[in-house]
Amino acid sequence: MKAIYPGSFDPITYGHIDIIERASKIFDELVIVIMHNDEKKGFFSMEERIDMVRKCIENYDNVTVEIGYGLTVDYAKKIGATVLVRGIRAVSDYEYEMQLATANMTLAEDVHTIFLLSKPEYSFLSSSTAKSIAKNKGDLKAFVPDYVAEKLKEKFQ
Ligand code: ADP
Repeated sequence: MKAIYPGSFDPITYGHIDIIERASKIFDELVIVIMHNDEKKGFFSMEERIDMVRKCIENYDNVTVEIGYGLTVDYAKKIGATVLVRGIRAVSDYEYEMQLATANMTLAEDVHTIFLLSKPEYSFLSSSTAKSIAKNKGDLKAFVPDYVAEKLKEKFQ
């Protein structure tokens, strides 16, 4: 079974990587899709984000990364994925994720959203947190892999 894991990944964190690792064991194929969003100007460019994700998934042979356009469910259908993976950190994620999943269910009944709960040690972790820590020159080691930490530091220099 083929699944997609869509998101902004701006940048990828250990929280995302944990979801990727677990989803890669559940599904035959996992495609991380960095969704293009015209309304949200990212911190990193799409090329920078895809480069960082690639570095982090080098050791998973059933995981790939692509840039996606348009509606996530249309993209899933286009590449033949029937499952859409999302991560939930805390109750605060639930409402937004439920809205998205319900809209997607209405748009495409053959694409099923599956949620994986964040590990407790990553339930506080978001791309925004990593960016704030980098901006204030904090230690990023518990939040993102070294490669991503370097890219964050370069951006704030
Ligand atoms: P989006 O902008 O679509 O929310 P993100 O890149 O922020 O994209 O997140 C992609 C998915 O990964 C979302 O389902 C989000 O809840 C989940 N996620 C983000 N950080 C974590 C984390 N620390 N633990 C588990 N899931 C996470």
